[in-house]
Amino acid sequence: MPVSWKNDALRSIPAVEQLLATARAEDLVAIHGREQVLAAARAVTAEVRQLILAAEQKKQLPVLDAGFFERRLQRQVEIQTEPDLIPVINATGVVLHTNLGRAPLAPEACRAIVKIASGYSNLEYELESGKRGSRHSHLEKILCRLTGAEAAAVVNNNAAAVLLSLAALAAGREVVVARGQLVEIGGSFRIPEVMAASGCCLKEVGTTNKVYLSDYEHAIGDETALLLKVHTSNYRVLGFTETVAAAQLVSLGRTYGIPVVEDLGSGVLVDLSTKGLEKEPPVQESIAAGVDVVTFSGDKLLGGSQAGIIVGRKIYLDRIKCHPLARAVRVGKLTLAALEATLRLYLNPKRVWEQVPTLRALSQDPKEIKRRAQKLAEAINQYSSSLSAEVKPDTSEVGGGSLPLTRLPTYVVAVTAAGVPAQNLTANLRQGKPPVVARIAAEQVLLDLRTVAPSEEKQLVATVAAAAQRR
Ligand SMILES: *Cc1c(COP(=O)(O)O)cnc(C)c1O
Repeated sequence: MPVSWKNDALRSIPAVEQLLATARAEDLVAIHGREQVLAAARAVTAEVRQLILAAEQKKQLPVLDAGFFERRLQRQVEIQTEPDLIPVINATGVVLHTNLGRAPLAPEACRAIVKIASGYSNLEYELESGKRGSRHSHLEKILCRLTGAEAAAVVNNNAAAVLLSLAALAAGREVVVARGQLVEIGGSFRIPEVMAASGCCLKEVGTTNKVYLSDYEHAIGDETALLLKVHTSNYRVLGFTETVAAAQLVSLGRTYGIPVVEDLGSGVLVDLSTKGLEKEPPVQESIAAGVDVVTFSGDKLLGGSQAGIIVGRKIYLDRIKCHPLARAVRVGKLTLAALEATLRLYLNPKRVWEQVPTLRALSQDPKEIKRRAQKLAEAINQYSSSLSAEVKPDTSEVGGGSLPLTRLPTYVVAVTAAGVPAQNLTANLRQGKPPVVARIAAEQVLLDLRTVAPSEEKQLVATVAAAAQRR
């Protein structure tokens, strides 16, 4: 039997056309278009109808006061028109979090993107001659200056840099590589598979843990196109190991007239060991050792935009740049703008540690992190008595498949919320505005400020407080 209070409530839902005729809806239509607002009006009225039908008692009905539907409509339009790719606060302490977009850019790089994005540029145009230019030219000079190489090219990412280099220099021929260097990076990048895709034949030498110069030498034959060295970025073989240094490989290559290509993975331009970090092989060292072609990422330890950088000898770079695949993996102007701005920061080797966010996060003094953590914990504790925050020593990771053994000493804010299990609290944080990604240990939610910008701290506290309100 129909319940009269339910019917009354259902009758108070405005018709979609009626809702669209309100002043608020008209404003929304002017901004977002009729389709968008119509869909929102249908969603709102349908949702309220469901709420009313589900109510078992009158007091469970939604309070449909004046302006209720207009407010709901506005909110619904906002939800529908929100971008899907949004900023999040990385409170994990993992500096190069691949799933969270790897390196955050320096303000200089962000400004460069906006400048180039907003208008035309000399991307492939020589201003002096008025002739067609090359997009590789803009970064070539600075990359050569920073690395000591003769020539340079930039592509979409390092996976593409390796693929293109192999395709251009060794398609249909053999590439000699140590068995212990057949790495897999992040699931979709596996050296043997990249090699197959580039049309080269893999010639494995050595064993999992050891490879000697003589192994390479025995593998060289008429079909050998190049010797490949791959940095084992994301894992280490410990104990009895043996690898061949780049310089040795180069002198072997010279003897037989075969180029040496090195995939450095992350690729740094600074010496991490000066800041007490584990040393990662700098690009300059490979070039100085005579390696013919070196490839590395723009958005790992370098701290720039997603890109693959290829530096080395001009005769090989010329072949790489004009290979048909180069067009398929070419880099966009926004990436180039950001990368150039980031590389310019490296011209001042002292300030670069402060200016590039990735380097700053890696080299941040744990005492400074502790000071920030204490302030944040205080702010969280003041928010509500159901929240409890304490500062604890812990460690952060580099991430992005770089320096897998390094643990950076840090301090975390360990948070618990009365009545909200840590699992739920992190889930609520992920739904926050902005979303916060955090770790859990021993039933506490850990916030590591190493990867949180000081400008994000206020939002972080507010999001934690809101997350503790929900079960
Ligand atoms: C990360 C990495 C790659 C892939 O680089 P992307 O820029 O992520 O494409 C390739 N090789 C090595 C050794 C790496 O560490």
